[in-house]
Amino acid sequence: MTETPILVVGQGPYGLSLANYLASQGQDFKIIGKPMELWRKHTFSDASLRSDMATSEIADPHQAYSISTFRQSKGGQTGEPTERITVKEYRQYIDWVFAQIPYPLQEDLVEKLIKHQDHFVAVMESGKVIRAKQVVIATGVAHHLNIPPEFKKARDVIHAYHVGRIEALRQKRVLVVGAGQSAAEAIEVCRKNGNQVDWYSRKAPKYYSEPLDLPKWIFDLVVQSAGLFRRLPPGIIKRLFAIFSATTMTPDNQTKLSDITRLSKAPGLDAYDHVITATGYRYSLNHMKFLGKELRESLKMRADMPRIDKNFMSSMENLYFIGPPTEAFFGPPMKFMIGSQYVAPRLSQILAK
Ligand SMILES: Cc1cc2nc3c(=O)[nH]c(=O)nc-3n(C[C@H](O)[C@H](O)[C@H](O)COP(=O)(O)OP(=O)(O)OC[C@H]3O[C@@H](n4cnc5c(N)ncnc54)[C@H](O)[C@@H]3O)c2cc1C
Repeated sequence: MTETPILVVGQGPYGLSLANYLASQGQDFKIIGKPMELWRKHTFSDASLRSDMATSEIADPHQAYSISTFRQSKGGQTGEPTERITVKEYRQYIDWVFAQIPYPLQEDLVEKLIKHQDHFVAVMESGKVIRAKQVVIATGVAHHLNIPPEFKKARDVIHAYHVGRIEALRQKRVLVVGAGQSAAEAIEVCRKNGNQVDWYSRKAPKYYSEPLDLPKWIFDLVVQSAGLFRRLPPGIIKRLFAIFSATTMTPDNQTKLSDITRLSKAPGLDAYDHVITATGYRYSLNHMKFLGKELRESLKMRADMPRIDKNFMSSMENLYFIGPPTEAFFGPPMKFMIGSQYVAPRLSQILAK
């Protein structure tokens, strides 16, 4: 059994950004997970990020991991902050970050987290055990794949998160469901690989080049005001979610999808070997089975997620939640990597106290 004052669970942009701030303060901590798993394994290799360069960087108090510095280190041009970056280049950027970070990344998964007296005990997939005083859950979207019930009876259902399975399909009859970027990318990959593809989405897609279709200054204001989000009147909260959470595609897809007919009524599923549900994520504490049942049941809830306070802490002392599943508390910026620039500096100070 090893001990640590702070255990960060998750090595995505949120966990890593927090770790960078903790490391720069000289804090003792451990961070576990699979390093940038979503970006290395669950995004289409030939796609581009939706967010621009400036909002896709792994946060650090000294901006040590800016994409322009990475490009310069490779002898390239710095590029414009508003540029979109390809997944291929982003994966090189991630490797470059990993080669520099001054703390170890322990590659392992928490199989079970329980509270025991005044500390937490995390049992890992590897069998190792970590005892921690404070725990931050930054496990992202992977536990929350949303598959609408009507598609569950298809011969084979693949959620768009499982890009490896989608990229492997050849000469199959495939139905892609959804009106967002993942649906567009799945259609493109499946067609390129010789599959016969139909597309179903009830609503026509909206084409935006950014996930957040807002002027830059409003965008920055919304991110910096994330802490005030919970105090906004319900009408404004609803409006913000409508703007930020709209299902959108980038404009290049308008041409790419021009020769495929979008079905607005669900076809019979028997005609397909595979149904790909690009239907997003639904956050629920009950999906997070690695949190012990007793621990889950003792948390105070708001809707399906644990209620967290302005310091990201749940109703259980020293247990924190960050990242996309906290959007109901800190607003839509938490859906994107940019939210980590709000969370990391603040939470690192709180954990240090
Ligand atoms: C296909 C797709 C494309 C996206 N594109 C963009 C984009 O272009 N720009 C943008 O800003 N946002 C984008 N997003 C949103 C994205 O989810 C967030 O921006 C960001 O990746 C969330 O970071 P995170 O650190 O919370 O979680 P993730 O990046 O999901 O990382 C989760 C981490 O938790 C670990 N983990 C999970 N379970 C356990 C466990 N039991 N024990 C230990 N570790 C565990 C994983 O191994 C991983 O290290 C996209 C999302 C998806 C699904």
